[in-house]
Amino acid sequence: MDKVVNNKRSRERTEALAKPSREEAEAAVRTLIRWAGDDPDREGLRATPSRVARAYEEWFSGYKDEPQEYLKRTFEETGGYDEVVVLRDIRFESFCEHHMAPIIGRVHIGYLPRNRVVGISKLARLVEVYARRLQIQEKLTAEVASCIDAVLKPHGVAVVAEATHQCMTTRGIHKPGVSMVTSRMLGVFRDHAETRQEFLAAIGMRGAHVVSGS
Ligand SMILES: [Zn+2]
Repeated sequence: MDKVVNNKRSRERTEALAKPSREEAEAAVRTLIRWAGDDPDREGLRATPSRVARAYEEWFSGYKDEPQEYLKRTFEETGGYDEVVVLRDIRFESFCEHHMAPIIGRVHIGYLPRNRVVGISKLARLVEVYARRLQIQEKLTAEVASCIDAVLKPHGVAVVAEATHQCMTTRGIHKPGVSMVTSRMLGVFRDHAETRQEFLAAIGMRGAHVVSGS
């Protein structure tokens, strides 16, 4: 009996996770338009559901990619380089998973290579893959750090993200101009205050007391 119930549950879950059809997605947008209080059949809104569905393909394209696999394909040997590499001001656009409202900001990445390095554009691309998913900023920050850590196996990784959340600035507590800063420090950036300060100085946050999870 239990087994039957379990099978039914797992089938329901599989169905829930299966990608809906384009028609289903557009019907959902129509429903939200009506929920907002408008008429999805009026002239200006008629093509909106299909535009939104297409926009979603772009905004959420990050689900198609496996970031670790991507990074594995692109790293190179360092050739003896053993200083901290810092890449700052990588702009990103994401969507908060609580309100599906835009999160717009910048990510700064530092790492101390052991044997492997990657090109600048690859790190920017890595951020983009994670950003193009429903996210919370803390998770995005941690995911970027652990992906670099897992693939490049450096002596340490530091990731700081600063972003404004439109669910905070345009609704709810209405705090325009407020940005959130999150960080993840691993290895030498976590263990050595000096290395951490070197990174924070490089990204213009010298002396900042960044509290980080590990
Ligand atoms: Zn939100």
